[in-house]
Amino acid sequence: MTRATNPSASPTIGIDLGGTNLRVALVSRDGDIVAEEQVPTPDTFEDLVAAMAENVRGLTPPDTVTAVGVGTAGMVDFEGTVHYAPNLPMLRRAPLGKSLRETLGVPIVVDNDANAAAWGEVCHGAARGCRHALLITLGTGVGGGIILDGGIYRGAHGFAAEVGHWQLDPDGPPCACGEPGHWEAAASGTALGELGRTRAAEGRAPNVLARADGQVDEITGYHVGDAAEAREEDGLAIIEEYAGFVALGFVGLANILDPEIIVVSGGLVALGDLLLEPIRAAFDHHLEGADYRPAVRVVAAELGSRAGVVGAAAFARELEIDG
Ligand SMILES: [Zn+2]
Repeated sequence: MTRATNPSASPTIGIDLGGTNLRVALVSRDGDIVAEEQVPTPDTFEDLVAAMAENVRGLTPPDTVTAVGVGTAGMVDFEGTVHYAPNLPMLRRAPLGKSLRETLGVPIVVDNDANAAAWGEVCHGAARGCRHALLITLGTGVGGGIILDGGIYRGAHGFAAEVGHWQLDPDGPPCACGEPGHWEAAASGTALGELGRTRAAEGRAPNVLARADGQVDEITGYHVGDAAEAREEDGLAIIEEYAGFVALGFVGLANILDPEIIVVSGGLVALGDLLLEPIRAAFDHHLEGADYRPAVRVVAAELGSRAGVVGAAAFARELEIDG
């Protein structure tokens, strides 16, 4: 097997660990998924490590795996220990990297899932070729990955880029983490649904309300998005208001970090320019000296739900080069 002994050509393994599913993929040097397994996320740490190892072995001939990259929800240190992950209760100070390394006998890199997705977009997606980039995921929460000078910025302990928990308004609504006024409490996909419910309860979103069968409590971000796609006035107005909250965080981050590009990912990106145009407008309006600096591009992610495994596999490639 010449391919297996030639790190410049052989695929690497990327693993994306989420609260619901565990994805394990064999990824080519070009970022294409060659083969993939997806299973429900096991409940215990031991079962999780076993499931990861089993699926890695299932995708590759014996002794051909050269390195594995893992992107997991949660706070991960440089040793690959997951300290805390709200949606993965089996991972509290869990030595995921060490256990997987002992089980598989190959170099392992473990990082935060948003970092993996950001790296995937830089290596193979919307931020290809960029040395200074932000990836922001608008989902249940708001996640982020920061690329500085061509590499992931991890901070002193590996916990950097928890952008969703940036307190923008001390008097704002509570975040899922308990603190008031964090960015994600206004800018997550969950927050879009909340904004829709608020406007409907005020009688200002009749079309959105109709899409939820007249039940205010049933309104989600999808109803708002559907109304916007149908060019219904209330749906468009709620998206524009929501886009303002998203842009508020983008502006702060761009003022501090001066990126070339901000890549937006998450399910809401399916709305395309319906969402991105109002974000761009608010961003350009509030960015310091916007008329006197190169434009910061705000674009949709290209890899979709593949970004995590593709980025994790790209991390693994660096291990091969280092080793
Ligand atoms: Zn928070």
